[in-house]
Amino acid sequence: MASLSRALRVAATRPGRSPAQGLGPRALTSGAGATTEKSVPYERTLKEARGPSAVAQGPSRPLPSTANVVVIGGGSLGCQTLYHLAKLGVSGAVLLERDRLTSGTTWHTAGLLWQLRPSDVEVELLAHTRRVVSRDLEEETGLHTGWIQNGGLFIASNRQRLDEYKRLMSLGKAYGVESHVLSPAETKALYPLMNVDDLYGTLYVPHDGTMDPAGTCTTLSRAAAARGAQVIENCPVTGIRVRTDDFGVRRVAAVETEHGSIQTPCVVNCAGVWADAVGRMAGVKVPLVAMHHAYVVTERIEGIQNMPNVRDHDASVYLRLQGDALSVGGYEANPIFWEEVSDKFAFGLFDLDWDVFTQHIEGAINRVPVLEKTGIKSTVCGPESFTPDHKPLMGEAPEVRGFFLGCGFNSAGMMLGGGCGRELAHWIVHGRPEKDMYGYDIRRFHHSLTDHRRWIRERSHESYAKNYSVVFPHDEPLAGRNMRTDPLHEELLARGCVFQERHGWERPGWFNPGGTAPVLHYDYYGAYGNQAHQGYAYNRLLADEYTFDFPPHHDVIKQECLACRGAAAVFDMSYFGKFYLVGADASKAADWLFSADVSRPPGSTVYTCMLNPQGGTESDLTVSRLAPGPEASALAPAFEGDGFYLAVGGAVAQHNWSHITTVLQDQRFRCQLIDSSEDLGMISIQGPASRAVLQEVLDADLSNEAFPFSTHKLVRAAGHLVRAMRLSFVGELGWELHIPRPSCVPVYQAVMAVGAKHGLVNAGYRAIDSLSIEKGYRHWHADLRPDDSPLEAGLAFTCKLRSSTPFLGREALEKQRAEGLRRRLVCFTVDEKVPMFGLEAIWRDGQAVGHIRRADFGFAIDKTLAYGYVRDPSGGPVSLDFVKNGSYSLERMGVTYPAQAHVKSPFDPDNKRVKGIY
Ligand SMILES: Cc1cc2nc3c(=O)[nH]c(=O)nc-3n(C[C@H](O)[C@H](O)[C@H](O)COP(=O)(O)OP(=O)(O)OC[C@H]3O[C@@H](n4cnc5c(N)ncnc54)[C@H](O)[C@@H]3O)c2cc1C
Repeated sequence: MASLSRALRVAATRPGRSPAQGLGPRALTSGAGATTEKSVPYERTLKEARGPSAVAQGPSRPLPSTANVVVIGGGSLGCQTLYHLAKLGVSGAVLLERDRLTSGTTWHTAGLLWQLRPSDVEVELLAHTRRVVSRDLEEETGLHTGWIQNGGLFIASNRQRLDEYKRLMSLGKAYGVESHVLSPAETKALYPLMNVDDLYGTLYVPHDGTMDPAGTCTTLSRAAAARGAQVIENCPVTGIRVRTDDFGVRRVAAVETEHGSIQTPCVVNCAGVWADAVGRMAGVKVPLVAMHHAYVVTERIEGIQNMPNVRDHDASVYLRLQGDALSVGGYEANPIFWEEVSDKFAFGLFDLDWDVFTQHIEGAINRVPVLEKTGIKSTVCGPESFTPDHKPLMGEAPEVRGFFLGCGFNSAGMMLGGGCGRELAHWIVHGRPEKDMYGYDIRRFHHSLTDHRRWIRERSHESYAKNYSVVFPHDEPLAGRNMRTDPLHEELLARGCVFQERHGWERPGWFNPGGTAPVLHYDYYGAYGNQAHQGYAYNRLLADEYTFDFPPHHDVIKQECLACRGAAAVFDMSYFGKFYLVGADASKAADWLFSADVSRPPGSTVYTCMLNPQGGTESDLTVSRLAPGPEASALAPAFEGDGFYLAVGGAVAQHNWSHITTVLQDQRFRCQLIDSSEDLGMISIQGPASRAVLQEVLDADLSNEAFPFSTHKLVRAAGHLVRAMRLSFVGELGWELHIPRPSCVPVYQAVMAVGAKHGLVNAGYRAIDSLSIEKGYRHWHADLRPDDSPLEAGLAFTCKLRSSTPFLGREALEKQRAEGLRRRLVCFTVDEKVPMFGLEAIWRDGQAVGHIRRADFGFAIDKTLAYGYVRDPSGGPVSLDFVKNGSYSLERMGVTYPAQAHVKSPFDPDNKRVKGIY
């Protein structure tokens, strides 16, 4: 039997490659796509329980003619979704599995479950999975799922890594997840076989553990069946019938198989690496790629029993306890793509490519030296699906109503399965998930990207290769860039703009005084024989900020912010989503969609939210009432009835579009939603000097009387027709100019030319983030999410509750108001100069009462600001007095810092500056 060290030596002797790098040139794809069956380390696999080629035997039970929901795929996600649908009381849910349960990826999973991730929602999802496998299923079925609680140990070999773990520990405190930072000596005492000489420290999470795939899925299917759900194996889905209703909406109608069809209004695509093929059956795009993902199982290791699972991020390996042996796996820089996903692949594995896998061995041996002399019992290399941002694909597809996604689990589909299955079930039954699932929602991607193969492939590769990298606050992808560039891109690039990627767009992050830093084509980090970029300025600027301290560009952002507060700054916000809502029912639709009253005269602009039925906030945006114009142009379409111009954050344009479309369809409003995002650019000029600058560029009177706050007008800017809007995202006097694409450059240049004498500077979104938090403006999907109501977020002023006009989410808000708010968004300032980025625990009078959602440094007030929801540990309503009367501290990386709570923004609390009062 080969030992790990021998494998390393063999790989090292191959010509043309170095085992240490593990990145030698080789073909990008797997050859013929071998499907050799290997042994797997589970005692009870379904494979062993029953013979092969079961599909030929036909379905394991007769198909019903109708079903409320059909789940496609019997892996971790399909079984969890079916179980949670049944628990929510959905009758007649059916799961169709092509072969037998778990036969895709699930059967050979490593099954690791860690409880701490750098995301509050993921911590909650993981907690739910853990509850299901360690408690609920056993209580319901009397069967043990195979859950083993052996704990988890994260290894830090440098300070940044330990800092990241300490951030996780602080977040864990807000959720009651026990964890401990251990010194090297303490780690050695816990795990005697570990080499701790090069350790900085570790994070030990005693209640982490290991899931058994067969045990979990069998128990889930039994529990679901006990509640009336049906599991039908050996029944491949061959087609999905879609109908177009009398409103022109495409909806799921039926699922087809060789053994008959099932009429259904709802399908859930849990088909793992086959989800792309299943999506195509309905005309739904599923942006994922299949890759080989592997671990090896060692021979017996004396003294390894009962050790925790280990994740050594810096070595990119994990060591999973396997009885009295270890499974060793990791993430490579050069993973193998599975190009031709075979639909005959069941309980299959690939031959392990040692050229690729060897890169993990050195790290594993370094961590547990006894591995050098330990044999390898079996290799497990199977297919798994990976997505462009390493997050799953969930929710209702924008293309077809009733078609839900539950796929793309990036090697975390066991541990996320329970939480995600529950949210999917909620999504299907209640229209929206219970938690904030935006990070997993298919609508986070713009529709132009979801079938862009190069983008999907590049981004999925980078996400895979960086999976174990520290998640730094200001990191950006290098893959799949320059997909969407706005008309000012070249202008800004020449002025040193360092771009951020959002929704495929390149938007300005900040301006580098040291020169230009273009984003180059993706070099796959030199993998697959690509030439890695040398002296890549953009990459170097990103790397400079790989820290949890104040980043080296802190002072550059400071200059941009203070210029905006003291003179003026111009922000290119062209990536914004810009939609027109027009037609006979547009006013009715606007009343229902928007929480604020937008039924004002043409020329008005209103900041509003859009809510879901639970009163959660799906979006915040500005809505401008339009006067009907005779001619259609990018600045206003021709329309009859009423018209509104909607400006939404560019990173969430698809989400907004899909939300509005869904509501229009559900309510059968007769109006049109028109997307003009690419036809218009937008610059925002903000600061005390903005009026003086623009007065020289625009042909309009910009006085408070002639052009008040929250209004808009068509005006000429340097001779070009634009829509000027008096608004602010940063708490200053300022105007946005919405400009037809061909006019963007001349208008921008005119503004810059005039602005030079007024101290006008270019500024980016890093400055907006700081300025907006300083002013107390909310950021959607940070401090305002689908699970936060505007009342909890301090945005009651955006809700027309004093009127009698019904609107989506109103009933939930009224109920919440009557019962009292269970949590409130609170602004904190920290006196000590310490950087915070979110996820810090909030302590009130010695008790953890929440965590920080968003934090940044405010340069005008010269303090760190942090926003987080505070709850009363007793479970009671949270009044303003409760907020004011506490004594607070924020815990960052295990250290607490005294903090002041504010019920009003500490910067310009009387809102004078936006009114032009300086
Ligand atoms: C080596 C390795 C190690 C891993 N380790 C971990 C880990 O430690 N922790 C963790 O959480 N995750 C881990 N994962 C990931 C995890 O195993 C997967 O994310 C998870 O199993 C995916 O489940 P799924 O239900 O999405 O897909 P699958 O298990 O692949 O299920 C999809 C099912 O759909 C069926 N199907 C496909 N097409 C059709 C059709 N037309 N009709 C009917 N049925 C169809 C397939 O037969 C298959 O059974 C690992 C993965 C690998 C490869």
